[in-house]
Amino acid sequence: MPQLGFGVWQVPDAEATPAVAEALKAGYRSIDTAAAYGNEAGTGAAIAQSGVDRDDVFVTTKLWNDDHGYDNTLRAFDESLKKLKLDVLDLYLIHWPTPARDNYVDTWKAFVELQKEGRVRAIGVSNFQPAHLQRLIDETGVVPAVNQIELHPYLQQGEVRAFHAEHGIQTEAWSPLGQGGELLSDPVVTKIALAHGKSPAQVVLRWHLQIGNVVIPKSVTPSRIRENIDVFDFSLASDEIAALSTLDRGGRIGPDPDELN
Ligand code: NAD
Repeated sequence: MPQLGFGVWQVPDAEATPAVAEALKAGYRSIDTAAAYGNEAGTGAAIAQSGVDRDDVFVTTKLWNDDHGYDNTLRAFDESLKKLKLDVLDLYLIHWPTPARDNYVDTWKAFVELQKEGRVRAIGVSNFQPAHLQRLIDETGVVPAVNQIELHPYLQQGEVRAFHAEHGIQTEAWSPLGQGGELLSDPVVTKIALAHGKSPAQVVLRWHLQIGNVVIPKSVTPSRIRENIDVFDFSLASDEIAALSTLDRGGRIGPDPDELN
């Protein structure tokens, strides 16, 4: 799985095609979509038209909350693949645990079956808390390859990352740029950016990469799409990583996974 990919949340289907095309042209080889984003078709069209070899692109999509349950999952997976125009998916994620519905274990059993059938290469989850991960492991014995969670310098998710490290689960950061808000003008970030002649977004992405996160920044602006992948020609010193790591406020932008249903 490439450590840096392109996210398409809040990109309308018709706009997803030029945005993903631009990302592939800029060198991204991993695309993160979801059934709930309503842009799997536009994303698939861009991949098909790009001229990039299918095997060179890592495609992730996610199962929406209303499709939890064993049979529903198998049906929803078929629909996603059809919209993406793919025979095999690279990574399928359970979008949210929706604990009040209490059926993510059945959903996970369907994911395991899809992987056994060779229809998806890797299976994982998103927005799972340690208790949800532990339950999947206890009840199925199958550890998710990835947990995609909200993560940026203002929300560093120490407890979840420690659980991932203990169980060999890859941490993937959603909203890695804090959705382009206050974080990108934080004085700690801008000072480091100035020192490297890089942008605040590039510094934040570099922090993620150096602490081992997979990142999927989103933009529909071609110059920013290019900027966000131009992060492999510099590195942050350990004191700069440490300074960014002091910014944790523990505050979410998105919903609390224990509450969303
Ligand atoms: P992000 O942190 O990637 O921020 C994107 C926003 O930041 C853009 O809309 C733009 O306003 C700004 N931006 C982007 N590049 C910039 C740059 N170089 N300079 C200045 N501003 C810049 O936020 P996101 O879109 O919420 O998250 C990224 C991806 O994560 C999504 O597209 C989606 O694929 C995924 N995601 C997953 C979940 C989940 O529940 N699994 C939830 C949210 C997002």
